Amino acid sequence: MKIIIHGGFFSESDQSNEVKTAKQNSLKEIARSAFEYLQSNSALDTAAYAVSLLENNELYNAGTGSQIQGDGIIRMSAAVMNGETQKMSGVINIQDVKNPVFVARELMKEDDRILGGSGAKKYATEHGFENFSTEIPKRREEYEEKLKNGGKGTVGCVAIDKDGKLAAATSTGGKGFELPGRISDSATVAGNYANSVCAVSCTGVGEDIVSNATAAKIVTRVTDGQSLEDAFAKTFDELKEIDGFAGAIAIDSKGNIYHQDSHPTMVFASFDGENFEIFN
Ligand code: ASP
Repeated sequence: MKIIIHGGFFSESDQSNEVKTAKQNSLKEIARSAFEYLQSNSALDTAAYAVSLLENNELYNAGTGSQIQGDGIIRMSAAVMNGETQKMSGVINIQDVKNPVFVARELMKEDDRILGGSGAKKYATEHGFENFSTEIPKRREEYEEKLKNGGKGTVGCVAIDKDGKLAAATSTGGKGFELPGRISDSATVAGNYANSVCAVSCTGVGEDIVSNATAAKIVTRVTDGQSLEDAFAKTFDELKEIDGFAGAIAIDSKGNIYHQDSHPTMVFASFDGENFEIFN
């Protein structure tokens, strides 16, 4: 059993040492709580649970503390993928729910598993997810500032459970200040993908991640026999060709974990019950 989580890139406004330390401490705590949860729950439920804890923490750009889009509204996206069944479910541009990742998890039960905008919100309301504003004053101030002066931190988790099953979950408030209607990579196979061999969650510029098909490529390469290291190296070389900005975390069915980023500001933590690794 093992998990690795990421807290995205430091946002432009959040690069102080204080915030960095706060992020590292919270990642450690969340990795520990999620690992405990993994003792008696599947990789899929644990990945969703870990991401919900990250969503609840306003330090991260997902759930509470999400970035505000160009028209002043927060729209969030999240997905979960069960490596064993290879089913993915997600929400795109959902408004006013506390934990988009739990709506994505709920959708796993449906035939229509990825919902967008008002359809996603309607589904959430009908399934008991209360109206909840995820706006925090700091993001509003940043938004007002950008309006005057006319700028990232998705979260994710990949896990392997006691039965060796893999899952990935990713949640985001988006890039910040984007055009309304813009679709993030987080609820696509480029940003969040898993099968029985490998699970990957990405962060970075969604357009670059989609162009590079980052998560799906890494999983495919590992499935075809490459090591995590080689699969990441090739995929990030290809990302470089388009001058892409992204990072990813992965776990394989042997319990190996790996991470790489194109820019050195992404935050990660992994935990296997004994050892923490904290990266940034
Ligand atoms: N990947 C997210 C998006 O483009 C942003 C992020 O990772 O911070 O919507």
